[in-house]
Amino acid sequence: MKYVLVTGGVVSGLGKGVTASGIGVVLKACGLRVTTIKIDPYLNTDAGTMSPFEHGEVFVLDDGGEVDLDLGNYERFLDIKLTRDNNITTGKIYQSVINKERKGDYLGKTIQIVPHITDEIQDWIERVAMNPVDGKEGPPDVCIIELGGTIGDIESMPFIEALGQFSYRVGPGNFCLVHVSLVPVLNVVGEQKTKPTQHSVRGLRGLGLVPNILACRSTEPLEENVKAKLSQFCHVPISNIINLHDVSNIWHIPLLLRDQRAHEAILKVLDLQFVGKVPRQPKLVEWTERASKFDKLKATVKIAMVGKYTGLSDSYLSVLKALLHASVAMGRKLVVEWVPSCDLEACAAKETPEAHKKAWKLLKGADGILVPGGFGDRGVQGKILAAKYARENNVPYLGICLGMQIAVIDFARSVMKLPGANSTEFDPDTTSPCVIFMPEGSKTHMGATMRLGSRRTYFNVTTCKSAKLYGNARFVDERHRHRYEVNPEMVPEFEKAGLSFVGKDESGTRMEIIELPNHKFFVGAQFHPEFKSRPGKPSPLFVGLIAASSGQLETLLQPSPIIVNPKPVPKPINGTVGPKKTMYPNGHAKKPLDSLVYFANGNVIHT
Ligand code: GLN
Repeated sequence: MKYVLVTGGVVSGLGKGVTASGIGVVLKACGLRVTTIKIDPYLNTDAGTMSPFEHGEVFVLDDGGEVDLDLGNYERFLDIKLTRDNNITTGKIYQSVINKERKGDYLGKTIQIVPHITDEIQDWIERVAMNPVDGKEGPPDVCIIELGGTIGDIESMPFIEALGQFSYRVGPGNFCLVHVSLVPVLNVVGEQKTKPTQHSVRGLRGLGLVPNILACRSTEPLEENVKAKLSQFCHVPISNIINLHDVSNIWHIPLLLRDQRAHEAILKVLDLQFVGKVPRQPKLVEWTERASKFDKLKATVKIAMVGKYTGLSDSYLSVLKALLHASVAMGRKLVVEWVPSCDLEACAAKETPEAHKKAWKLLKGADGILVPGGFGDRGVQGKILAAKYARENNVPYLGICLGMQIAVIDFARSVMKLPGANSTEFDPDTTSPCVIFMPEGSKTHMGATMRLGSRRTYFNVTTCKSAKLYGNARFVDERHRHRYEVNPEMVPEFEKAGLSFVGKDESGTRMEIIELPNHKFFVGAQFHPEFKSRPGKPSPLFVGLIAASSGQLETLLQPSPIIVNPKPVPKPINGTVGPKKTMYPNGHAKKPLDSLVYFANGNVIHT
């Protein structure tokens, strides 16, 4: 096993996660199998209890792990499936050590940060790195470890110490340290400044870690003399100084790394030179196509995102990424209009009339409406109004988790004339509880009552839009994170009034997907489809929303043309069998590029 450690210096928010993911993409394109571990030095055992408005979204994994959003970047970039153990936090490490201490595993020893915490960190990394994450068998070749925070933070010290020991444990040729740093420009002089990077490298060395590669973030490409200076003062060969200047979209990052031969520098440190064909030179054809296609998009699609707006777009990162993947797939430039749901409410008309007017103008000016997941009752009424507007005006609508629940509430209130209809989350004494607490475990213990992770949804209506979008699948596995669900007792009433429950769980009691059959596109999902969207495999429900919002849904859902009089296939003569050809869903015998999205109904989207 080879390890690439990615650290960050100077300031936070340099895009360490994207850099680490980009490195993963390039190494994968070299033919290596890559896994990743994210270290978050905070004390929380996981991200489940952290506010998305402070820390960015909580990303959910197949196994129900609630983790840092960087794991989402890794899954998207590398098309892998991680587990909760791929996210290490100080809390997890301490909990594990304390549990062992209570069991008496340390045989009366004094438990200390060094060696007990540092050993636990190293053992954890070594154990988790071996788990395959790409669906294949056997351990991966390379594990990329991203250390959260910035060098010098007090809370990351035990990790730095552990990683220093770890580099010694695995030995030279097995460990490569990439330090991501900043080269700022002072406006007055217009000169690229190397001092902050020099200082942070000195700090790193002082802590016992020696960088092999410097990944320098800057607004403009680095000047040659600046690189030379960095090389001289940081003792890193000039060929190992990679410059990640600002680019038009993040899909250029792997290309920048490849163009500067970052893979060669890393593979040299890792003693994985190009011998024969493996590792091979990374071509990244689909990444190149996607990055340039994105830059050329002209026609726009405008989506109103109705939620709690706090200015931190990371709170809805995966939803935004999924919208982007779908937009690029449908050849549209994505424009997201943030609509604070509180501003749509009737009380805002009196209290903040300007904001109220603006919010409604944005909502009405959008091609499609998306209400993402959420907790708590602030702004819920505004979200209900947004769903009502979409339903009544035939505007494409996608409701995710809470976004589906509020669409159900609106339907009960407006169509079924149940004015008191509500979720028991917002009104425990509602007269018409159309959304109720349906935990999988105990109803009395609040802890661990969330329905989390991958669960199966079966389509019971095969002609619905969602089933078609999912390529006429019989069932789909998507990720969940919720406590409340549509009240199964009210389902017959809803169906009589015209709301279709097209997807349910295996027991038929949990409503997973709703649709309004006579609407252009009105879909709600109890799960979070955004977590499984990939650049080359956009989430089908997001594709549906974007296609409907840009007038392309009908064409997309049309069954593929039936070929009349297909050419007869020549029979093998005298038992000779020609070379075996694999046929792909589009009928081509050519291996599909990642940048083409295939639907089982035969339609192909070029991303
Ligand atoms: N608050 C709702 C529930 O717990 C919705 C959760 C969500 O949107 N993720 O069911």
